[in-house]
Amino acid sequence: MEGAGPAGFREGRLYIGGAWRDADGGRTVPVVNPADGGTIGRMAQGGAAEATAAVAAAAVAFPGWAATPAPERAAALRRVAALLSERREEIAAVMTAEQGKPLAEARGEVAITADYFLWNAEEARRIYGDTIPASTAGKRLLALRQPVGVAAAITPWNFPASMLGRKLAPALAAGCTAVCKPAPATPLTACAVFACIHDAGLPPGVANLVAGPAEPIGEVFLTDPRVRKISFTGSTAVGKMLMRRAADGLKRVSLELGGHAPFLVFADADLDAAAQGVVASRFRNAGQTCICANRLYVQARAAAALQERLVAAVAALRVGRGDTPGVDVGPLIGEGAVARAEAHVADALARGARVLYGGHRLPGPGHFFEPTLIAGAPAEALVAREETFGPVIPLWSFEDEAEAVRLANGTPYGLAAYVYTRDLSRAIRVTEALEYGIVGVNDPAPTVVQAPFGGVKESGMGREGGYEGVQGFLETKYVSIGLMPS
Ligand code: ADP
Repeated sequence: MEGAGPAGFREGRLYIGGAWRDADGGRTVPVVNPADGGTIGRMAQGGAAEATAAVAAAAVAFPGWAATPAPERAAALRRVAALLSERREEIAAVMTAEQGKPLAEARGEVAITADYFLWNAEEARRIYGDTIPASTAGKRLLALRQPVGVAAAITPWNFPASMLGRKLAPALAAGCTAVCKPAPATPLTACAVFACIHDAGLPPGVANLVAGPAEPIGEVFLTDPRVRKISFTGSTAVGKMLMRRAADGLKRVSLELGGHAPFLVFADADLDAAAQGVVASRFRNAGQTCICANRLYVQARAAAALQERLVAAVAALRVGRGDTPGVDVGPLIGEGAVARAEAHVADALARGARVLYGGHRLPGPGHFFEPTLIAGAPAEALVAREETFGPVIPLWSFEDEAEAVRLANGTPYGLAAYVYTRDLSRAIRVTEALEYGIVGVNDPAPTVVQAPFGGVKESGMGREGGYEGVQGFLETKYVSIGLMPS
């Protein structure tokens, strides 16, 4: 990263038109470590002017990048991937410092970010069009796939590197240029990723980074006619607002929004694997993952056995600073997140639920909450309806497959769902009945770069990852060629 200061103090800057720069007027804000509240660096704060400069740089760079032969674009993306891999430790340390997740998870995230660049580098060479049979002998018909233009990427703080990679890599592979806005809590990880982009020698303006308050930057992305696509990961409320506003310019949108994942465990499942799966899904990133299990449903006759295993597995989790070796669950991103987890537990208890394990915030400094297991919350409880986005999992039981599917689908969200069973036919029936974009069957961690990721219902639209990721940044141009007589 540009400008790493003394004693690891980092000064993040904006990256516009191939150069690092300060915000107009030199505005900066502190970046805070959620594990202790300490300031770990400062980040330049751009606004409308800097966002407009970034869009202008991306628009100037677009024709050249779109015309760059695919193998050259691919080679540039491979260089980014190689630098990300080379700098894995450094980037993971920045991520853990500003986001809180355990170092092992941060390393894994940098690795998957590199993989997004690598996979999309390969995909850049496979952007095929079509030839279409003509109706007459004197015509030839083609469908070309061309980049949409300047793409805007707005990313959240929970996966500050991989969300950037999942949007930026396919955009650049497609031949788009990009303007990116990181979440305010995690700008330094974005700077570290952009340092790889800079050092990989991507042409100026191909990828730009503007950090700062969301509204003025978002407003430029929404209203500047040079921006043709908005790719957003974040809350459903902001996603809906962006889609409404993007309609005025008929900009393409892809939205990866909130989830409320059900985790179904049938009595025939491997209960040890299911308990481990719940823990892996729910407590990774301290529960701050849009696809992590939010509601656990266990078939009644296996409920006691699963509960016993789960309490033991949750009790074994080590909570602490992400940079302490052996820690499984780091701090939450801030006080608001702890207060929400606390409120969700209190609401459930007030409605008659009971705590099987945990249930409390942990003393500071830092924003820690105990891994928590609760049972008996009614359907109206907040934990049953809203994303807790913290280390809290409510447990219910069900009698049969039909009830399990009904409970699982009883939410406006539709991102990820999980099914544990040894019965193949049941796995297929339930998977097909689940109204979700992603289903993990005996698999708590389905995300890989080569698979389509995205939700249905109020969890969003469009798919990232896989070949569909690149398709999201392409337009089809139909060409009809009349042959002249020889
Ligand atoms: P979260 O609750 O995970 O922070 P948000 O939807 O608020 O989810 O934030 C996700 C991303 O969207 C962040 O980069 C945030 O700054 C950005 N964002 C929030 N509000 C707006 C807005 N009005 N316009 C553009 N981006 C926004």
